[in-house]
Amino acid sequence: MLRLKVLGGGRQVGKNALLLEGRRTQFLLDYGVDISGPEPEFPLHVRPRDLTGLFITHAHLDHSGAAPLLYVSAKPRLFLSRLTLELSDLLISDFMKLSKYYIPYEYAQVEEMKSNSTFVKDGSEIEENGVLTRFRNAGHIPGSLMLEIEIESMRVLYTGDFNTVDTCLLNGANIDPFKENDVVIMEGTYAAFNHPNRSEVEKAFINDLLEVLDSGGNVLVPTFAVGRAQEILCVIAKHGVKYPVYVDGMARRVNMILSENSEFLREPELFRNAVNKAIHVSGWRDRRRALESPSIIVSPAAMLKGGSSVHYAKEIVEDSRNAIFFVSYLMRETPARKLLETGSLQLETLQKKVNARVEWYDFSSHCGRLELMNVLEKLDSDTKIVFVHAEEEVGKEFSEYVARTYDIKVFYPSEGEILELT
Ligand SMILES: [Zn+2]
Ligand SMILES: [Zn+2]
Repeated sequence: MLRLKVLGGGRQVGKNALLLEGRRTQFLLDYGVDISGPEPEFPLHVRPRDLTGLFITHAHLDHSGAAPLLYVSAKPRLFLSRLTLELSDLLISDFMKLSKYYIPYEYAQVEEMKSNSTFVKDGSEIEENGVLTRFRNAGHIPGSLMLEIEIESMRVLYTGDFNTVDTCLLNGANIDPFKENDVVIMEGTYAAFNHPNRSEVEKAFINDLLEVLDSGGNVLVPTFAVGRAQEILCVIAKHGVKYPVYVDGMARRVNMILSENSEFLREPELFRNAVNKAIHVSGWRDRRRALESPSIIVSPAAMLKGGSSVHYAKEIVEDSRNAIFFVSYLMRETPARKLLETGSLQLETLQKKVNARVEWYDFSSHCGRLELMNVLEKLDSDTKIVFVHAEEEVGKEFSEYVARTYDIKVFYPSEGEILELT
C-alpha cells in the first residue's frame, strides 16, 4: 500500500504539504504556510507523533512555514540541508515577528525543530525504518533539494520547487534520475509558460536598467530576500554595472549567510564580488542617500507586501525618470501584481498614481513548460505523475495536455484528496 495525501499545495501555489503513507511509515514532504492572502493559511492537520520523518526541500515559507507546528506535541525527525535550516530559521522568525495574526507556534518550537534536524545534501542517502531516501540538487534556491524515496517497493520522486536551467547563482537540477521512478510528484508553477532564454532576459534587464540610470533615475528591484536578491546582485556584477547598488531588508542577512555557505553556490567568487560591491543599508540615512542620485535598490518584499521595498516604492513611483523592475513570481491580489496590471500603487492605506516605468522580467527559479516537458519525455509510460504547486487553470490545462500527449497517468489533486499510488 502506498498513498499520497494532499495536506496542502493542491491546485494552488502555497502551503505545500504532502503525506506519503506506506504500511508502517508516514513521511511528510514539506509543511508550508500560505502567506499570499490577508491571513496566513496552514495545511491540513497531521498527527506529528505518527510521522516517521519530515523532509523540507527548501527554505521558502510555502514549504517550511508550518513545520514548527509539528513540534508542539512531538519531535519528528527532520531531514534537510544545513543551509535550508539556517534560511528557514530566518524566514520563520521574520514571519512570526511580522504576522499581524495568531501563529499557532512559538520560537521554542523552532528551536525544537532545529535540534531534531539531520543534515543532508546533494548525493546524500538516508535510511529510516527500511525506507531509503536520496537527495539531489533542485537548482531552485541555495540549499534546495529534490528527493527520491524507495518505499513499498516503489520509487517516488518529489521535486519540491525545481529548476533545470543554470542561473548565475546555482547549477540547474539534473533530470536524469527522473526516468527511474514509478511516481513523480512534480511542481508546475510555470507549466503554462515558456521562459524566455535566460541570457536574453539578463541582457534586457541590464539594458533597461542602464537606460533608467543614465537618464538620472532610480531603479527599485523588489525581490525575495532568499535567492532572487542574490541572483540579481550576481547579474549586475557580472555585467559590470558601475552605478551604486543598495541592498535593504532581510536580503542583507541572507547575503551574510550565503557568504558563509558559498559552497552551495555555482560561482562563489562572482557572489563574493557582488556582495562586496553592494552597499548594505544600515539605517534611514542610507535609505535617503540611495534616492539622492541614480542607483539600484534591491529590496524585499518581492510583491510589495510590507518590507522596505514598500518604503522605496512610495518614494519613487511619482517621478517618471524612476522605475520599478519586478523580477519574481507575483501572486494574485498582491500590490505588485496589481501595480503591474493596473498601473496604480494600491497599498493598505494608500493609493498612488504611478509615473515611474514598471517592468517585469522572467528570472524564474522554477522550470517553465519546456523544461517540464523535457523531464516528462524521459519517463517510462507507466510512471504516474502527480502535479502540485500550480494555480488551478494552469495545472488543469497542463495535466490534461500531458495525459493526452504521453498517454500517461496524471493526477492533479485538490487539498484533502488521497491518491492510491499502488
Ligand atoms: Zn520555492
Ligand atoms: Zn514553493
